[in-house]
Amino acid sequence: MNILISASEAVPFAKTGGLADVAGALYKELSNIGHKVYIILPLYKIIKQKFNLRDSDLEIKVDVGKRNLKGRLFSYNDTCLFIECDELFDRDELYGTSQGDYEDNSTRFIFFSKCIIEVCKKIGFQPDIIHCNDWQTGLIPFYLKTIYKNDLFFKKTATVLTIHNIGYQGLFPPSDMLMIGVGWEYFNPDGIEFYGKINFLKAGIISADIINTVSRTYAEEILREESGFGLDGILRTRKERIFGIINGIDYDEWNPTKDNFLPAKYSYKDIRGKLVCKRELIKKCFGNNSKDLEKYPLLGIVGRLSSQKGMDLVIKSAPQMLSSGARLIILGKGDEYIHQDLREIQKKFPDNIYLYIGFNDQLAHNIYAGVDFFLMPSKYEPCGLGQMIAMRYGTIPIARATGGLVDTIDDYEPIFCHGTGFLFYDYSHYAFLSAIKTAFCVFNDSRKIEMLILEIMKKDFSWKNSAQQYLEMYKRALVIKES
Ligand code: ADP
Repeated sequence: MNILISASEAVPFAKTGGLADVAGALYKELSNIGHKVYIILPLYKIIKQKFNLRDSDLEIKVDVGKRNLKGRLFSYNDTCLFIECDELFDRDELYGTSQGDYEDNSTRFIFFSKCIIEVCKKIGFQPDIIHCNDWQTGLIPFYLKTIYKNDLFFKKTATVLTIHNIGYQGLFPPSDMLMIGVGWEYFNPDGIEFYGKINFLKAGIISADIINTVSRTYAEEILREESGFGLDGILRTRKERIFGIINGIDYDEWNPTKDNFLPAKYSYKDIRGKLVCKRELIKKCFGNNSKDLEKYPLLGIVGRLSSQKGMDLVIKSAPQMLSSGARLIILGKGDEYIHQDLREIQKKFPDNIYLYIGFNDQLAHNIYAGVDFFLMPSKYEPCGLGQMIAMRYGTIPIARATGGLVDTIDDYEPIFCHGTGFLFYDYSHYAFLSAIKTAFCVFNDSRKIEMLILEIMKKDFSWKNSAQQYLEMYKRALVIKES
């Protein structure tokens, strides 16, 4: 199959969250099993700094409103493509700063979406599937159904839109219709209008042959009013086209037997290295060599600091959670007000909380390996990768029962010693603390905790299964396209 993955971020090139992991790993997995796969990204500053790219000498010109913008195509290993346009992408961040989104994000991603379509023609790559991801590439299926409707080059091309997080939709003022380049007849509730604004994700939802999300539970949740962020109605009208495929994790990147970031490597056959990782992490974060500290539970958080991730519950729970000597390490970056709240709570408990505001791959690996419990008290979580990475490193998740967390964690039953983590249901710090309390009881039973660690390390979260399901879904998209 000829597959084009279009995304606004992908590992190893640029990453702010799970989308990058998924796009990068899917590209790799599908290529490995013999498909012709291209992945295409904007050429951000960070990619220019880190990778030696090949200049393809190809220029792409597209109209964005009255402006005719020029892009230039670069590549890495032939099939990773990048669109250079320094005016739009040569910046320190991908979408905005902690103060807010970049003001010209609509220009940036209208340009990117149009360029992708033109690149296919320029390089003569006729995709069977264009796999779009989130609002940033939501306009591609829409353009193929409007401006490019009669273009024979894409006659057989089916489109798939994966929604990684419906909370982010790409909303812009109506005046941007002029930049999108289609008539005002599309600015209505059956089109791309959404409560008086233009909605890029909705453009993808109404146009893609298949709509996919990143877990089965999330595929159901987005159809409900309370979790559909206003798009549940339109999604219900396309219900038969909605899939939910759980993400895998990249087993080359996340592998405790080979992880060079760690002070000691380990596997489920011999987990002694995990204790070395815990010891070193305590030393690094709390400057303490005392072996005594190892006896207490060590908790970790790695993630985007947005309101979705439940940091308000962490802050409210902290005094009780840490009262018996437990320690908490937080690594994250996101909204300024959450940074501020976390700084304050850290100041109150300097001996028990270590806070690192920023993006740090090495520290992330060391947290996944070194802590005993990984916290994900999310308000909602489409798939979540952190809990799967944690389990691969023998770290037990404590998480809210929502979205992909439900699909990947079995709530632990202490009497029958059955399960893979600790779940709570109500979005309240009481419910969160109750799950933490149960987890700490199990922690104090060395036989039970060891059995649980071994159990979760043996779970298979690789991409193998998920990639196969993606291929099945692509085949379905082609059937729908033909019908
Ligand atoms: P989301 O996609 O909502 O951000 P996921 O759990 O799906 O959340 O994926 C988050 C990914 O990003 C994980 O691989 C996690 O380790 C990584 N990550 C998030 N924040 C940071 C950070 N500050 N430093 C390093 N890695 C991070």
